[in-house]
Amino acid sequence: MQWKVFGGFAVFTAVILVLLWVFQVVFLDTFYKAIKVNEIKTAAQDVCGRIDSASLQDELQRIALNNQICIIICDGQGSRLYSENAVPNCIIHRLNSWDLAMVYTLTAQNGGSYFERFPQEVRQTILLPGGGETITFAEESPEVMIYAQLVTRADGKQLLVLLNSMISPVGATVETLRIQLLTVTAIMLLLGLLLAFVLARKIGRPIESLNSAAKALASGDYGVNFEGEGYREVHELSDTLNYAARELSKTEQLQRDLVANISHDLRTPLTLITGYAEVMRDLPGENTPENVQIIIDEATRMTTLVNDVLDLSKLQAGVVQLERSVFNLTESVRGILLRYSKLTDYHIAFYAERDVFVDADELKISQVVYNLVNNALTYTGPDKSVILRQTESDGKVRVSVTDTGEGIPSDKLNDIWERYYKVDKAHKRAQVGTGLGLSIVKMILDMHGGEYGVQSREGAGSTFWFELETVKPDDTER
Ligand code: ADP
Repeated sequence: MQWKVFGGFAVFTAVILVLLWVFQVVFLDTFYKAIKVNEIKTAAQDVCGRIDSASLQDELQRIALNNQICIIICDGQGSRLYSENAVPNCIIHRLNSWDLAMVYTLTAQNGGSYFERFPQEVRQTILLPGGGETITFAEESPEVMIYAQLVTRADGKQLLVLLNSMISPVGATVETLRIQLLTVTAIMLLLGLLLAFVLARKIGRPIESLNSAAKALASGDYGVNFEGEGYREVHELSDTLNYAARELSKTEQLQRDLVANISHDLRTPLTLITGYAEVMRDLPGENTPENVQIIIDEATRMTTLVNDVLDLSKLQAGVVQLERSVFNLTESVRGILLRYSKLTDYHIAFYAERDVFVDADELKISQVVYNLVNNALTYTGPDKSVILRQTESDGKVRVSVTDTGEGIPSDKLNDIWERYYKVDKAHKRAQVGTGLGLSIVKMILDMHGGEYGVQSREGAGSTFWFELETVKPDDTER
């Protein structure tokens, strides 16, 4: 990881430096010359455009000074009409009128403009024994550019505009740049190394440690702690992983509890059923309706448990589809409560102002009511009363189930909807349950898009409620 970061950074630095090198050093000369050529041509256009101006002399001076060029305007015979000199030792100012006339003819032959670039001669006076002058071309000599253009004045006379400019050699500049770039390259590589080292320490190491912690988690060590140091994102990642580890361990624990509970819950009724059946077989006097009832009760208990587990796994797998229809919810609740009428020692009351219709899966909503009422009956207080209320507001109907039991501690109110969760971990036979009832309720109501919740005060009882949208009874089935 560390070396990869450094490698990446070094490549990045190298690319930037190569680009800089190419543009600053290799192409500098080309760029500079192209700019200069463009400059002299633009200046020529400028002069031609002002050829009829009354203040031509002033303007020529300005153009010559601004661009550092020499300008000569002459006629076909080579006699100078205007002349501006901004370049020392200028080549065109050394031309006589015959030369100028030649240039005029050359330009005319060339289609009206003429451009030439050549190295400037360096005149050296060498004291030869006989005295004399030689002309040499220095290796790094400046280049000279001349540009000639024919222009017709308003009075019909054709003139030659001749410009001369100098291209200073860039060799020295390039050398300076080369040294600068070499220095920058060295500094950048050092910086890159430093940065890669720092980055690798700040990102690489924490990720490596998170990785090994994640491997430990994958192999089942839920107590592992993710410690991500360095950047905020790494911190957040380790927080998320810690959270995931906690949740995983919770689920793992709940599942273990479930297996323990279910096996206990299955074994107890089975033992009772076998025991009672054997007694009834062996002792004729024991074949009483009470004993048969015990067998039936225990078998029912087992059925409920098995059904709960099956229901929840089906709901979770998403294979269950809602079969919606418009039905009378109030009637449906009454029907459910009717089945509890045999429990004469319980007081179950249902208050509803009028019959309300909903568009939902009747069977599943009945299961919700069942589960809530069953819980209320299981956990209600010694007065053994459970109250159901149906209220309406804003096009919604709310069914609430209130008991007078011990209530639920407020810090557990969110957990009870989780699979396999039981507030009272100690397994009491009287409070038989799988911890699945409420998660089935939650799943069914989520599928319907209904709201649900619980209010509870410890020692005073709990109220579980859910809400569904009401519809008019004459709405047709979906
Ligand atoms: P169980 O089958 O154990 O009742 P549930 O999912 O229906 O499973 O409920 C989860 C837990 O929520 C229960 O174990 C119980 O601790 C708590 N609980 C549910 N309903 C009530 C209630 N009416 N009063 C007090 N506690 C309740």
